[in-house]
Amino acid sequence: MLRFASLSSGSSGNSYLIGYGNKNILIDAGISNKRIRDGLESLGIDAESLSAIFVTHEHSDHIQGLKVFLKKTPVPVYASFGTLSELANRECVPHELMHVVKPYESIKIGELDVFAHPSFHDTLEPFWYKVTTPEGSVAVVTDIGHVEQEMGYVLSGLRAILIEANHDINMLETGPYTFALKRRILSDTGHLSNEACGRFLCDILHDGLESIALGHLSKENNYPELALLTVKNEIDFAPIDFVSERLNIFVAGRDNVTKILWK
Ligand SMILES: [Zn+2]
Ligand SMILES: [Zn+2]
Repeated sequence: MLRFASLSSGSSGNSYLIGYGNKNILIDAGISNKRIRDGLESLGIDAESLSAIFVTHEHSDHIQGLKVFLKKTPVPVYASFGTLSELANRECVPHELMHVVKPYESIKIGELDVFAHPSFHDTLEPFWYKVTTPEGSVAVVTDIGHVEQEMGYVLSGLRAILIEANHDINMLETGPYTFALKRRILSDTGHLSNEACGRFLCDILHDGLESIALGHLSKENNYPELALLTVKNEIDFAPIDFVSERLNIFVAGRDNVTKILWK
């Protein structure tokens, strides 16, 4: 059985569970240690059974629970060299637990094959991850400032994806953030807007994609209903063979565990 769930997704904290057979891994640990453990327990997974944590990058919404979690459950932590060096500076991860993943490299954890893809984001060496199992592939694609064509190739044949729909451009532009922060989010190394997420999905939709979870929504500059509507509109107005009502698209919550694919 392929297991893929969001323990929490949003600009304030991210953590995702992916499992197959008797192996389970987390991608990011950006919520509290307690929330990680409670979330796993609600899925029937013992935190002590985790095999590894893969970290996308060093922003706090992806690592804030890591240090405390590792104190009780010292599992290997995989990330790029750049991300690990930041985690070392902040004394988040003991050296003996650190494992460097090179860009475009795959790491095998049992029958999980975790592929690291560089992303465009304003940290040292960010990744997003695609995980392949004997029963298909899933991917977590957040914190990407823009999309490159080659990503479509890597993301073909997925069974499920969690993809960033960070903000509504109008809400961001007219909202309370400083000019510098607005510019950062809208830049090529910031975050995907709802519109950009929808357009990207149009490029990667394929038969067999069973679940599309929208994630990493901004609390200040987005609403779940708006993200969903905007993404669906992009799909329905695009000259492609897919219509949104036949797709299983939903928002992964910030305050609740969301099963994305569990079969
Ligand atoms: Zn980030
Ligand atoms: Zn983030």
